[in-house]
Amino acid sequence: MDARIIDELRAIVGSEHLITEREQLSTYECDGLTVVRVLPLAVLLPESTAEVQAVVRVCHREKIPFVARGSGTGLSGGALPVASGIVICLTRMNRILEVDLANHRVIVEPGVMNLNVTSRVERDGYFYAPDPSSQQVCSIGGNVAENSGGAHCLKYGFTTTHVLGMEVVLPDGSVVQFGDATVDRPGYDICGVFVGSEGTLGIVTKVTLRIVKRPEVVQVLLAAFNSTNEAGEAVSAIIAAGMLPAAMEMMDNLAIQAAEAAVHARYPDCGGLLLVELDGSATEVEALMGEVAETCKQCGAWEIRVAQTAAERARVWAGRKAAFAAVGRISPAYIVQDGVIPRTALPMVMSEIARLSAEVGLRVANVFHAGDGNLHPLVLYDDAVPGQDKLAEDLAGEILRLCIRAGGSITGEHGVGEEKKMFMSEMFAEPDLATMQLVRCAFDPEHLSNPDKVFPRPRLCGEKPGVYVPHPVETAGLAERF
Ligand SMILES: Cc1cc2nc3c(=O)[nH]c(=O)nc-3n(C[C@H](O)[C@H](O)[C@H](O)COP(=O)(O)OP(=O)(O)OC[C@H]3O[C@@H](n4cnc5c(N)ncnc54)[C@H](O)[C@@H]3O)c2cc1C
Repeated sequence: MDARIIDELRAIVGSEHLITEREQLSTYECDGLTVVRVLPLAVLLPESTAEVQAVVRVCHREKIPFVARGSGTGLSGGALPVASGIVICLTRMNRILEVDLANHRVIVEPGVMNLNVTSRVERDGYFYAPDPSSQQVCSIGGNVAENSGGAHCLKYGFTTTHVLGMEVVLPDGSVVQFGDATVDRPGYDICGVFVGSEGTLGIVTKVTLRIVKRPEVVQVLLAAFNSTNEAGEAVSAIIAAGMLPAAMEMMDNLAIQAAEAAVHARYPDCGGLLLVELDGSATEVEALMGEVAETCKQCGAWEIRVAQTAAERARVWAGRKAAFAAVGRISPAYIVQDGVIPRTALPMVMSEIARLSAEVGLRVANVFHAGDGNLHPLVLYDDAVPGQDKLAEDLAGEILRLCIRAGGSITGEHGVGEEKKMFMSEMFAEPDLATMQLVRCAFDPEHLSNPDKVFPRPRLCGEKPGVYVPHPVETAGLAERF
């Protein structure tokens, strides 16, 4: 990058918060999707909205693309840098600015860790409901950009339900406020547009979050089934009976083995494990727990256990939350997939995943936010075996296509990012994509904010989803990738 621009950026954030050395830049070359890595020209760590604004203004003036980054735990390559651009990392903006218990809201900077919001208000009897399994490390800014979910989003809603307002630095460097502390406002819901926009519309610098009163009683039931199909039937039956558990999670045998190896959660050794958490008043939880247990039995559960103490409950959740990382105990490499299906399609989709897995000869472990129909198939492979990474990638792609065919979606919570942009054209028709581009261009007409993410590009004829293969016309120098 031009030395003049580097000097200007250094003057904004201070030399210790501007990174240009190759070794240090490599920390930022990828997020949780480690198969794709790009070194940016520079990484900046601003401390305030004013600094973010000043940096973005320089980018806008010089037409330098920028990528916002929180903790870098994203699993779809959303924070992957652009080679000709900079990364704006928000981790230093990590203050909780205001706690307003009377109005059930907290105002935070984007670099605040998800779990720190709950930690701050829990002694007053409140919690922040969206709880991604990465909640100890991921940032609120990243959660907003990805509309992150978690086990308790079945009852309480995804991040979007809990974001009341936000301050944003737009790609032209202007600072705007979307939403506020009121629950409903006239006009378009711009806050809703921004949540889940994966850093393509600007940079969030302040967020007003809704917090929720802790329920009187929380109980978790574990039900062991012979198969995920039986457990899936129990999930549909529980919802069909009108019950809304706080969380309803499922793991198959491979995922159970991995979790046991990592955190010794003392799960039963079974084909399909269902975890059902109920919360509310003591009488309500007691009555519903009986109904849930009975429903599980009718669907084939052969062991039902209720965690009796807070420590037992914590152990049950530790196993589930560790499931992704725990798979490293049973496989040298794996791809974390994220798709959604209608709950009722679960038995069909599970059988089909098992068939595809056997056909390709790779194991697939399954962890689900079952109540939401959000699947996380983990495709296990050995990266030391030539060609297995490609097989695994193809299998993960086929599972996504299966989700689309079942009437679902290519992502439930991890986002499209870099990883799934080529699948957008399998899920949406051209007019849908064009409409989304119009929204994007209203905020960022010059495509400076996290360019090349979410939307399928290049859009040449003959384009195929998956790893980008240059079109022959492009190779011949007759067309260029845009
Ligand atoms: C072990 C593990 C478990 C996980 N479990 C879950 C889960 O249960 N549920 C779930 O939803 N996700 C889960 N994730 C994925 C990930 O943690 C979430 O997507 C999280 O919200 C990312 O936050 P981050 O701070 O790491 O963001 P990053 O990875 O740094 O960035 C993610 C995206 O947000 C954008 N962004 C970051 N900050 C800002 C900002 N201030 N303004 C605008 N855009 C911004 C980036 O450009 C990028 O597109 C998991 C990840 C791991 C590694």
